[in-house]
Amino acid sequence: MSAERLQRVRNKMQELDIDALLLSMGADLPWLTGYTAMPLERLTMLVLPAEGDATLVVPRLEAPRVEPRPDIFEVRAWDETEDPVAIVAELVGGAAKSFAISDRAWVAPLLQLQASLPGSQWQPASVVTGPLRAVKEPAEIDALRRAAQAADRVAFALVNGEIELVGRAEKAVSREIGERLIEQGHQRVNFAIVGSGPNAASPHHEPGDRVIQRNEAVVCDFGGTMDGYCSDITRTVFTGDPPAEFRDLYAVLERAQAEAVGAAMAGTPAEDVDGVARRVITEGGYGPHFIHRTGHGIGLEEHEEPYLVGGNCERLELGNAFSVEPGIYIEGKWGARIEDIVVVTKYGPDSLNTVDHGLCWRD
Ligand code: ZN
Ligand code: ZN
Ligand code: ZN
Repeated sequence: MSAERLQRVRNKMQELDIDALLLSMGADLPWLTGYTAMPLERLTMLVLPAEGDATLVVPRLEAPRVEPRPDIFEVRAWDETEDPVAIVAELVGGAAKSFAISDRAWVAPLLQLQASLPGSQWQPASVVTGPLRAVKEPAEIDALRRAAQAADRVAFALVNGEIELVGRAEKAVSREIGERLIEQGHQRVNFAIVGSGPNAASPHHEPGDRVIQRNEAVVCDFGGTMDGYCSDITRTVFTGDPPAEFRDLYAVLERAQAEAVGAAMAGTPAEDVDGVARRVITEGGYGPHFIHRTGHGIGLEEHEEPYLVGGNCERLELGNAFSVEPGIYIEGKWGARIEDIVVVTKYGPDSLNTVDHGLCWRD
């Protein structure tokens, strides 16, 4: 939401030879302008040419919600009888060019634009905005930290036994976690996964009617949005005295997570952080049971760049914020995951979540 961000976008467009950036739904538009497009069929689109002023094309009835930012864009409200796609096509000069359009824009206006600007080249806007948004400004890191601390207070209640587990349905626990996220300052709950017993082996388990029993693993992964920025944390508790087999699995996981956090230094290829977690888990004998990437960037969106995954050779930069969340899942039996949000600083990795990882559930 600053002229400085706009300049960084323009520089990146120039570097990539993009003639116009077209932002519609998704987080790029609010990141750049402070305005969020409603997910309606009516088109909202910021048209930012490489040279010249930006224009926010917005339905007339939405225009009153737009907070004017004359330093960033002009407003072009369109009436119900106008064709907004034709307005956009005219604003970009009506000729074949190289465009970048929001990853989350509707397909319908894109198809119309492609038909009216034949021969143009199209890329997702994330080629421009992804690497920029991945480097957080100090105020953004402060916002992520506040969201993480709010989520931590809920996680602390969980591991401390303040949230009843045994005898309750997963979805009841999920609901309580969501309510606590709001109580702690989030405006919105994005998800609250509660996977108990064999369900703990399903990383994105949908909490259901299963009643949590004594002596089983419970994976709780939850987060929300607070003042625009997302939280995301996972803690695993065991409702009883964990058997040696589970302690072994969990010790391997704790080591993998800690070593991966330790590897999150500026200059390290993103895939290496994943590689560290994977090596520890493989050496521990659980390699085939770690079935997802190690982490994802976080900010205005719960999942954004950078992704910590094999094949992503992009180097981590100061200001990157992402999850480090290895897991081990034994199908039909149990599972565990530990997740913290980590920021790359000049002093090394800074874990925004600080709630203990130990299997120290008290009831
Ligand atoms: Zn996930
Ligand atoms: Zn999570
Ligand atoms: Zn996550």
